[in-house]
Amino acid sequence: MNHSQHDRNRWAILLCVLPLLLLCSSGVPAREPGKLANVMILATGGTIAGTGATSTTTVGYTAATVGVDRLIQAVPELKTVANVKGEQVFQIASENMNNEYWLKLAKRVNALLKQDDVDGIVITHGTDTIEETAYFLNLVVKSKKPVVIVGAMRPSTAMSADGPINLYNATILAGSEAAVGKGVLVLLNDQINGAREVTKTNTANADTFRSWELGFLGYMQDNKPYFYRQSTRRHTADTEFDVSNLDTLPAVDIVYGYANMNRLPIDAFVAAGDKGIVHAGVGDGSLARPAVEPALIDARKKGVIIVRSSRVGNGIVARNGEAKDDELDFVVSDTLSPQKARILLMLALTKTNDTKAIQQMFYTY
Ligand code: ASP
Repeated sequence: MNHSQHDRNRWAILLCVLPLLLLCSSGVPAREPGKLANVMILATGGTIAGTGATSTTTVGYTAATVGVDRLIQAVPELKTVANVKGEQVFQIASENMNNEYWLKLAKRVNALLKQDDVDGIVITHGTDTIEETAYFLNLVVKSKKPVVIVGAMRPSTAMSADGPINLYNATILAGSEAAVGKGVLVLLNDQINGAREVTKTNTANADTFRSWELGFLGYMQDNKPYFYRQSTRRHTADTEFDVSNLDTLPAVDIVYGYANMNRLPIDAFVAAGDKGIVHAGVGDGSLARPAVEPALIDARKKGVIIVRSSRVGNGIVARNGEAKDDELDFVVSDTLSPQKARILLMLALTKTNDTKAIQQMFYTY
């Protein structure tokens, strides 16, 4: 073999092995070309599993009545895009979501993702709290394999139900290598949203999920995901949170800010033993004086961690802006919505009570 042949062979070997090496560096082995991905569908209820009295019933239906087997049977096309298996983890309307359901779901997701025969997970879920479950899992799932949460705005019995196409797209996305390492994804209406930013914005319309100013991550189109952005914040395998040995989470609640607000809810949560309070303040997380700020100062003196968030929906809550956070020993939520700040604060409290360390977590996740 002459030199140039030898060099060509070396390049050929390198080019074949390189993609494999790259994927292995994410901790997720490359899939054999032409092989269907193994996707596990975990069902939790919601409108995607809901039924109404007639095909035109799109409100006033009952959520969480159809089991996972029927959900899968209703979309025979799933078999052409992945080897799917289903499991009913629980069956609830997602307004009834709680910390215990989250822990159960997270443990099941982590156990399944450790298996070599699971390439990705789809979770069917109600849309009311889908964004919260997504962010919780985004912080506690210990794998880079895709986790896609999907719901529907119309029940399964409705004319133009959106569940089947959303489930079909979610299964493709969960089986795709493009979704590896992107964090937990929320998919409805052909739009791929990241867990940290996504929020429900319309009570009834199928086009309801937005990531507001920071934007969604990509589209599903013609059986393929197209990604255009990804989160700069740490998630999944790169977080410090571990729920494997937890059965409960620290008590954290949200107090909503509004004109004429009084201190009653803050005092009630403190009396009930809360470890943390998220204040969904007006504007830049402003605190009403004299009613609210003194109540939060009193709460902090009793050891409760205070996070200043905003009800506005966009923008950074500025540290030491609308309150003297350094002096009062408060934390700010950065751009997290109050409901997601509550989740991060609960998980932060499983690690530390140090407000500086907690503040750093809000700038990290
Ligand atoms: N209330 C329902 C739920 O969150 C709404 C839905 O799924 O769209 O379970």
